[in-house]
Amino acid sequence: MVVAAPLLRSLRRLPRRTLLAGAAGLAMLGFLAVTPAPEAPVVEHLPAQGPVTDPPLYYVRPRMRSVALTFDISWGHRTLPQVLDILRREGVRATFFLSGPWAEHHPDLVRAIVAGGHEVASHGQEHVNLSQFDAAYIRQNIERSHAILKQLSGQIPRFFRPPNGDFDDLVVRTARSLGYETVIWAVDSLDWKNPGASYMVERVRKLVFPGAIVLFHASDSSRQVHEALPAVLADLKARGYRLLTLGELYRQGEPGRVDPRGDPDYPPVREADVAPGQEPGLAPGRTPRR
Ligand SMILES: [Zn+2]
Repeated sequence: MVVAAPLLRSLRRLPRRTLLAGAAGLAMLGFLAVTPAPEAPVVEHLPAQGPVTDPPLYYVRPRMRSVALTFDISWGHRTLPQVLDILRREGVRATFFLSGPWAEHHPDLVRAIVAGGHEVASHGQEHVNLSQFDAAYIRQNIERSHAILKQLSGQIPRFFRPPNGDFDDLVVRTARSLGYETVIWAVDSLDWKNPGASYMVERVRKLVFPGAIVLFHASDSSRQVHEALPAVLADLKARGYRLLTLGELYRQGEPGRVDPRGDPDYPPVREADVAPGQEPGLAPGRTPRR
């Protein structure tokens, strides 16, 4: 993963057109026997690491052992129903960051998310790195998706995850002026790399801590998330974690605004210091419905 980071950083500087041309070239070589997708799958990156004076949310210092699972969606309709099925079976609610165009194309799936008792949040309109744009564009990006999400979900989204986790002070402040808290994550499951279910389960198991915001995707580019989720949930429940929506977690304590990723003192909150949020070892599926 360390080796991949510089490559990703250099890839993100390339114009999108160049990347698409590269992908098209590979496809023509016959290595990728895939049906062209109606919307291009999106590769997520690590957030910008520049100096930030107005930081976003990475985690919460909770009163009890709890965690928020978050799923970004900007493409596809196959992965999400599988994810929703698992969450329903396990009695777990989560937060879904929806892009405006995706929601517009899949109103039935937006309704399924709401019917599952989940929280709808915003992933913006165009899936671009917002730190490259001015305030007017950022405002328009957030406002357009807000109108769509509000209308289709009946919820008023309060959390905004910028595309690719890319942000700067202007993004955070503009989002705040529109009533949004900008949310990154503390734990990236790396599901967008499709590294295999057991890798993802082990990664989340090792990195999770009380109050962590965990990143998954329910876009179709995330092809293994449904294989990893049952074991991730079983592990968290066995360790006494309650699984909350972001809104619920937010009300649990102080917002964590210092990026914990790569910090030598990781994790910022120790599991042993926080009382279990539910009876440890409660079997999956036996969580009381809320
Ligand atoms: Zn995204």
